[in-house]
Amino acid sequence: MGAMANWRALRLSRRMFLTLLGAAGLALPGSRPPLEAASPVRTTRWETVPGPDATESPVFVAPHPFNAVGVLWQGALDSLQVRVRQGERWSAWWPVALHPAAGRRPAGPWRSSTLLAFAPAGALQYRLTRPGVTVVRCELIDTTSGPQLQAVTVPRAVVVSRAQWGCDERLRFKDGEEVWPVEYAPVEKVVVHHTATANEEADPAATVRSIYVYHATIIDNGGWGDIGYNLLVDWRGTVYEGRYGGPGAVGAHASGYNTGSCGVAFLGTFTSTYIPAAAEAGCASVIAASFGYLDPFGSSFFADKTLPNICGHRDCLPTQCPGDFGYRQLNNLRDAVARQRGTPRPQAQLTAVRFFSEAAAQDCVRFEVEVWNNSAQPLETQGPDPGYAYDETQTSASIGHPGQFNRWRIGIDFLDNTTGRRYPFRWGLGGTLAPGERRLISGQIELTTPKRSLWWAGLIQEGVAFRVDMFGVSRPLLTTPSRLFLPLVARNASEPDASTPLRAR
Ligand SMILES: [Zn+2]
Repeated sequence: MGAMANWRALRLSRRMFLTLLGAAGLALPGSRPPLEAASPVRTTRWETVPGPDATESPVFVAPHPFNAVGVLWQGALDSLQVRVRQGERWSAWWPVALHPAAGRRPAGPWRSSTLLAFAPAGALQYRLTRPGVTVVRCELIDTTSGPQLQAVTVPRAVVVSRAQWGCDERLRFKDGEEVWPVEYAPVEKVVVHHTATANEEADPAATVRSIYVYHATIIDNGGWGDIGYNLLVDWRGTVYEGRYGGPGAVGAHASGYNTGSCGVAFLGTFTSTYIPAAAEAGCASVIAASFGYLDPFGSSFFADKTLPNICGHRDCLPTQCPGDFGYRQLNNLRDAVARQRGTPRPQAQLTAVRFFSEAAAQDCVRFEVEVWNNSAQPLETQGPDPGYAYDETQTSASIGHPGQFNRWRIGIDFLDNTTGRRYPFRWGLGGTLAPGERRLISGQIELTTPKRSLWWAGLIQEGVAFRVDMFGVSRPLLTTPSRLFLPLVARNASEPDASTPLRAR
């Protein structure tokens, strides 16, 4: 018990949100907390004072399973890590990252983390990598019970409502009063975030609920009264309604830039992986449908600086959000919005791509990508011709087709590419592409070892620029040889019927 004596449990309380019902009768009409069955949300607070020499906390066994943790602390930055026990296994130690300023509540001495969300766990531990933290409050959140939305196919440009994702509206109220009554301002900017939670989760709706609980009641020592983001998008492209009041409600996602902006958060962490094409497409649909009046490539003065109309959180404030990889994809998001609102940029672009492998033979990745020459100039091209089959060790240069200046080619790249060369596999367009013309280009890559990496396409003007980069990021669809018809991903609603199958070649 020697080391344990350095740790002092200040409080262990299980908060029952039923008590929030309180004096509901005093609330104004229309802002009354709904009276419903008991909330399925459970939270537990574990607050401790680290000893002066201790680095690792005791293990806290939670009174209920939990699928998210928010950490509040006082003292030094970048010195805390947490891990959770899932069954018998401990997770890795996860760094606790400071949440960027977003709300309007003065946090006092407390610092708040970004939310950590994971598959349900039973115990938690934290450690200090250096001294300087004086008190640590771990808020364990259980939002595992609620609608299971992962099997639901949601039509494009349809948003899963708060009721549908299992939002407990009572958490917006304290003593019968709305904590942060809804305010509206015309939306001039879309600010793109990532939630810094896990990628490709099995139950994204549970994570939406845990972010809601954290933002509404915990972060900044008491919460902001609601979820900070206006919209959230999961990796399959399902869009969730965030802040109460709709996309025009003033959120709490970028301090100083909340009024007049819509905060859209991709669920996941995009510092070293890309936003999946399906998520990008879902997001683009909702932006185009909700804010069709915004020029997706425009910019204007906003708050205290000139900002792109579709910008990243890091354009507003010093933060990594939405991750280095995610940030690079914003141009593709803007292009997708522009095509959906019927104002595509007058230049060559990619409009759809799919990757697929046979389930029984995943050492071959095939692709089909659509090029659209929406410029006034013909696109001249070179070899190799569409259909060429590369093996993984080859490049377009090594097979005798180095880039020729100003010629246009398709490039294919993937996350496990270790050659150091971007788009090692390139294909010509099979002949000059006239202004206005669209063409499907296909090809394949034989892999040395089977892997289901993330793949994407680019449109390359050789010797000039990657004109489209990181387009249609996705894992190959697994097919059987008998299945010849597949949907294209990243195609836009305003273009020819997205459900028209294209023949695999
Ligand atoms: Zn952000």
